[in-house]
Amino acid sequence: MSLKEYRKKRRFDTTPEPAGREELPPSSGKSLAYVIQKHQASHLHYDFRLEWNGVLLSWAVPKGPSLDPSVKRLAMEVEDHPVEYGSFEGVIPEGEYGGGTVMVWDRGTWAPEVPDVNAALAKGDLKFTLHGAKLKGSWVLVRTRGFGGKRSSWLLIKHRDQFASTKDITLEEPRSALTGRLVAEIAQAEGGNVEKAAAGDPPDVAKGKAVARRPSLPRRSPRKRIRAK
Ligand code: MN
Repeated sequence: MSLKEYRKKRRFDTTPEPAGREELPPSSGKSLAYVIQKHQASHLHYDFRLEWNGVLLSWAVPKGPSLDPSVKRLAMEVEDHPVEYGSFEGVIPEGEYGGGTVMVWDRGTWAPEVPDVNAALAKGDLKFTLHGAKLKGSWVLVRTRGFGGKRSSWLLIKHRDQFASTKDITLEEPRSALTGRLVAEIAQAEGGNVEKAAAGDPPDVAKGKAVARRPSLPRRSPRKRIRAK
């Protein structure tokens, strides 16, 4: 667990992402952070992160999580991120690593369902409980053989419990868990590419349906702004 690769990929005089402090000591007693960041970069994906040993272990999930236990979602292992990254929502400049818009799609805490997390990670079978705003209950990350290369691919799977469902949570709850914004609204506010960002919002929402449903926003202007080039 190290932030060396994270830092090597980024220029902190250009990107608003946090450099992160030196790795924090392993958390003892306090609850462990969980976050999913929806990231509209060259491709839309969901970055799934679990705090462990002072960093955020991270996986890129192209299709996002599914509440349906029969659906296995590919989760590509990526570099550890600083714990502070979990509250980052904004725009990474184009041309920088991961250039695009980042939303804190879900956040909360997690708890391992295994006695030894390091052993579970090494084995490639980590069972855990999420206490998020959107995702709750029991889940598993299982390492697969596929793809090769230096990064492992994993599958993110919901276990059967009271929180399992066939509803498509990525479509039904597209807004930021931190600010209530859509991807396009984050890009709009932070000087990003609004048109590109809007491709990350569900089509009916991006067209203004759900924008109008949000009481704190004026009815018409966000939709106009989203459409403006
Ligand atoms: Mn990403």
